[in-house]
Amino acid sequence: MLKVGEKLYEGKAKILYATEDPALVIQYFKDDATAFNAQKRGTIMDKGVCNNKISSALFQVMEQAGVPTHFVKQLSDREMLVKRLEIIPLEVTMRNITAGGMSRMLGIEEGIVLKQPVFEWHYKSDPLGDPLMNDDHILALQLATTQELETIRRLSSKVNDTLKTYFATRGIDLVDFKLEFGRYRGHILLGDEISPDTCRFWEQGTKKKLDKDRFRRDLGDVEAAYQEMLRRVLG
Ligand code: 5GP
Repeated sequence: MLKVGEKLYEGKAKILYATEDPALVIQYFKDDATAFNAQKRGTIMDKGVCNNKISSALFQVMEQAGVPTHFVKQLSDREMLVKRLEIIPLEVTMRNITAGGMSRMLGIEEGIVLKQPVFEWHYKSDPLGDPLMNDDHILALQLATTQELETIRRLSSKVNDTLKTYFATRGIDLVDFKLEFGRYRGHILLGDEISPDTCRFWEQGTKKKLDKDRFRRDLGDVEAAYQEMLRRVLG
């Protein structure tokens, strides 16, 4: 039996706590920041508050667009009530503009607008550095079924189309982002968070980075970037 308030899991940026309902958990957002597979560590003041509020708003935008998510409701500044998922150990990356891992892997400069979005599967493993994998790896290792992969691809495209438009109207280019999905009562739901920790946001015109790259690359004004993204999301 789970105890209410029992810590179920602590990750790098979030903690999951049990509730009286075994199907629901509380997702608590910390100010802790890590990069490069936790080799770099720090704190970003009020990042947890910003990410909780931004994710809560964006999950509601996703639901309206027809993407089912684990979001139930925002409970407090740092807490969100979510459906308890069986997490699939994959990270989906969608890219609209070259940056980060894609620029490194292929030796191309950052900032090139891609002719079409690039979809990537990564195996969720910190020790291995979340390596790129293809459908064959996933199916051969039985990490997910063909039907689940199809659903995740379809939902990820919808997330990208919706977020790109949503942020364009707020003066932000959506460069790339990472998603995680899980199983819940026979359905695939979008889980985790959608925030400046998991997306690259560039201000239109200035190209100023308003995301975790400010922490990763020691660009300064880290807290201000998270606050600015919250302001843009809340309108
Ligand atoms: P890249 O593969 O270029 O490092 O990351 C692509 C996008 O996915 C970026 O927006 C990045 O923030 C996000 N991303 C990829 N892997 C992770 C991860 O392990 N943790 C977090 N927070 N974001 C990730």
